[in-house]
Amino acid sequence: MIPTVRFAPSPTGLIHVGNARTAMLNFLFARKHDGRFLLRIDDTDTERSRQEFEDAIIEDLDWLGITHDFFARQSERTKEHAAAAEKLKAAGRLYPCYETAAELERRRKRQIAQGQPPVYDRAALKLGDADRARLEAEGRAPHWRFKLSQTKVKWHDEIRGDVEIDTAHLSDPVLIREDGRFLYTLPSVVDDIEFAITHIIRGEDHVTNTAVQIEIFEALGAKAPVFAHHPLLIGSGGQALSKRLGSLSLRSLREDGIEPLTLACYLARTGTSDAIALAAPEDLAAGFDFARIGRAPAHFDPAELLKLNAKLLHGLPYAAVEGRLLGLGVGGGEAFWEAVKPNLARLSDVADLWPLVAGPVTPVIENAALAGAAADLLPPEPWDETTWGAWTKAVSGRTGAKGRNLYHPLRLALTGRDNGPELKKLLPLIGRGKALARLKGDTA
Ligand code: GLU
Repeated sequence: MIPTVRFAPSPTGLIHVGNARTAMLNFLFARKHDGRFLLRIDDTDTERSRQEFEDAIIEDLDWLGITHDFFARQSERTKEHAAAAEKLKAAGRLYPCYETAAELERRRKRQIAQGQPPVYDRAALKLGDADRARLEAEGRAPHWRFKLSQTKVKWHDEIRGDVEIDTAHLSDPVLIREDGRFLYTLPSVVDDIEFAITHIIRGEDHVTNTAVQIEIFEALGAKAPVFAHHPLLIGSGGQALSKRLGSLSLRSLREDGIEPLTLACYLARTGTSDAIALAAPEDLAAGFDFARIGRAPAHFDPAELLKLNAKLLHGLPYAAVEGRLLGLGVGGGEAFWEAVKPNLARLSDVADLWPLVAGPVTPVIENAALAGAAADLLPPEPWDETTWGAWTKAVSGRTGAKGRNLYHPLRLALTGRDNGPELKKLLPLIGRGKALARLKGDTA
């Protein structure tokens, strides 16, 4: 059997780093095992699902380097879902219920007040044909619940180890709403069977669902796949990441200048026993192993992500960024890139550094005598990376200034700033004309 996984987002919002990690783990598993990756759009919630979110999910995953081998949309498979529902009805595992939401809520409150677990009491199972006919004559439409076996469901989870959930403690889940629409639970199982999913890798918020879904797999005569539930990614302050937390959407990270490979490396390794480090995509897949995924929640730390992003940029050759630099209006070719890249945390920071070379720079003259001597001593061009050392030595000889007292006023005069890229690389790019003007206090 070909190892087959799926990532199944609901198109009800932008994909955030938490979902993206689930997608990444599935993708790496598929790549490592020469398997297949299904992108399944779980759009059974027609009120909240939007085409624009589906498009955004595909685009954002693609940006992150996660491509799917095949694609499905649950809303196009209602026939198959309905056929499975009929099968469950015929087997007595799906039964109609007529309680309103308000009635259920009252019952739930009463159970809690009486110290009982708020589990559905299966009152609808006691209804006879005449009761049902009367309720329907009142204008009530049934919703349908799956009759759990009320036994212990066990599985070996690839991350959590042996898991056991007693479905006697759960309410029979509603699979079909009174308007006839399916909730997520049944379509997911039907599609997992149809697409021959061998491994379900998802967040541990689905552990209870898994017990229910294993029962549904079996009730439909199918073998349940292997499950792996990973701990959730939480914010650095410990708060859960929600889909509505726009600031942690892939899109916002991308707009904030995070490189896709940075995020891929971060998501592949966060919460594992491996250190978070840069790696080629194929090495990320080769290093994937359920045994390395920890049981504790993984923290998403934007500062660490930005540090990793800086490291990635510092290692990029000019050829990898040439087009994007031009797009940002930055010239200076390879020499400028090599001069400024150690100072970047985001590629877009380069646009802020380009004026140091291209001008205009308003110089800050901290020490007029030193700036004057430095102007006098500027050697003729051509300049290269040795120019700075020879020139500052001469300025030091003439003025007696050393160390910070020498370099700081020169930096302020040449760039107007307190800190920045290495001046030995910048100086030849600034050139004699602009350097001379700036040392004299002129904007250039
Ligand atoms: N659409 C579900 C979700 O986003 C999929 C869960 C699953 O992987 O089965 O939570």
